[in-house]
Amino acid sequence: MRASQYLLATVKETPSDAETVSHQLMVRAGLIRKLATGLYTWLPMGLRVLRKVTDVIRDEMDKSGALEVSMPVVQPAELWLETGRWQAMGPELLRFTDRHERDFCLGPTHEEVITDLVRNEISSYRQLPINLYQIQTKFRDERRPRFGVMRAREFTMKDAYSFHMDQASLDETYQLMHRTYSAIFTRLGLDFRPVAADTGAIGGNASHEFHVLAESGEDEIVFSSGSDYAANMEMASGILPELAQDAQKRSRSEANTGDAHSIADLCETLGVEAQRCIKTLIVHGCDAQGDQSDELVALLLRGDQSLNEVKAQKLERVFSPLVLASDELIEAKLACKPGCLGPLTADQKAGKISYVYADKSVEALTNFVCGANKEATHWLDANWGEELRYDEVVDIRKVQEGDLSPDGQGTLAIKRGVEVGHIFQLGDKYSAALKASALDENGKSVVMTMGCYGIGVTRVVAACIEQNHDDHGIIWPENIAPFRLVIVQVDAHKSELVRDISEALYAKANTLGIEVLLDDRDKKTSPGVKFAESELIGIPHRLVISPRSLADGVIEYKRRGGADKELLATEAADALLEELAAASF
Ligand code: ATP
Ligand code: MG
Repeated sequence: MRASQYLLATVKETPSDAETVSHQLMVRAGLIRKLATGLYTWLPMGLRVLRKVTDVIRDEMDKSGALEVSMPVVQPAELWLETGRWQAMGPELLRFTDRHERDFCLGPTHEEVITDLVRNEISSYRQLPINLYQIQTKFRDERRPRFGVMRAREFTMKDAYSFHMDQASLDETYQLMHRTYSAIFTRLGLDFRPVAADTGAIGGNASHEFHVLAESGEDEIVFSSGSDYAANMEMASGILPELAQDAQKRSRSEANTGDAHSIADLCETLGVEAQRCIKTLIVHGCDAQGDQSDELVALLLRGDQSLNEVKAQKLERVFSPLVLASDELIEAKLACKPGCLGPLTADQKAGKISYVYADKSVEALTNFVCGANKEATHWLDANWGEELRYDEVVDIRKVQEGDLSPDGQGTLAIKRGVEVGHIFQLGDKYSAALKASALDENGKSVVMTMGCYGIGVTRVVAACIEQNHDDHGIIWPENIAPFRLVIVQVDAHKSELVRDISEALYAKANTLGIEVLLDDRDKKTSPGVKFAESELIGIPHRLVISPRSLADGVIEYKRRGGADKELLATEAADALLEELAAASF
């Protein structure tokens, strides 16, 4: 490709709406342009990268035995009504009507459509297991589209759905997809971690997210220094290093704490450490049907710890999603402000709090400080026993850096990650709702069991840039770079030799099948600009053909992100091309 005939849409200024490095560089290097919030056009340079990412994903999916399909982006409401998601999805689902007043949506995901296909096409265990995938546009009307294509409204996803007669078969495909994803992200040159994830509202059996480690990541992931334990923050549990306790229990006394309501205020007022205090949170409970009730549930945590809401809302007596009781409700029921709440005595609890969950962190405390459930009053030297009790010990704590790994090996570290992939055992949520069943060996009808496996294809491009850049621009891993080689002409208008040699190298590279960009722009584009742009775009290999170096019989070579320039004799430049052509990845 000749730069003079290409759309090099580089931009000098950093776009004002771009918060992350990848968003800035994608616009500046001319990979994408914004059409409207969360909607992006992929320019020729960007599309070359996206295609390569797609090729790697398709190649590994095909190798795993998955079969490619392509389903419509526009989906009829009927299917979503059948699974109940027409109501449940909320405003993220973009809905519209056609000329016949029929309801449709833009697919944010394709469980409904694929399950409809499979219930019609598959009837026997002989046809199973099957894993169907596509690489397709998705639309989600995200609450906060941001970071460019990282959290867009329209984006490309690779989504796969597997169907099985039983759990054992699903487990097998799930493991295969785990390995396939690891192979994909390894080939894409990403520093990634698979982490255990919450199965959330769907409540399947297992789920793993694949995270690319990056400071700008929206998620927190937790892993152990001493084992392969890794989980996302929502799921992670850790063991608190043991805290020395007083051997003797003292008897409880009351202290006037004025308007000290936060743990920090309390510590200052009483001169105690946060880890000696108990923090009490009051949330709404739920009834037997799981609906929100006005019953209040208390959650107790050690003062230096914070609540993991996802864990808390999974507790049987707690309404999900978690709703903190309002100050008014707490005052009306408990006659005290939230800042003075604590574990209750049986008298205090009666009829007011339906259940008390204590996080493991408070179980071993002795002589602790907690609210006395009375205005401006806290207890000192409180202890668990006849009077002060909880109903159940649970894990509702957010893990902290330095906690011990739950498997006892190593300590936990917390890093930020960008979720690029997600694999999930769905069970029969969709197959039961849509009645997708097949006959087993005995002719009995069995509801199929499903798995689903997603990769954010467009997000992968942004995540890759987050990990591979410097002050000058992008540093592409070789196998997804838009071009592998750029040949920069310097002062070609003054030197026939520059033109001849660069054209000869360009022709040779093309013949060898190396994706090459010849920067043959005329003198209006200065050499400095050409160099800066090749670095911004991040092309891995650069040859500079200038009258000055040719006079010395050499060509300048530079590896993007690598060591200093090298001077190559002309034959060595030929050899370099042969080497590039022979490289495999
Ligand atoms: P997130 O928590 O980031 O919103 P999700 O749980 O909604 O992700 P899935 O439904 O599992 O995501 O989708 C599969 C993959 O699609 C994700 O792992 C992610 O890489 C990608 N993805 C999801 N939402 C977006 C988006 N708005 N823009 C770009 N990629 C996305
Ligand atoms: Mg989402």
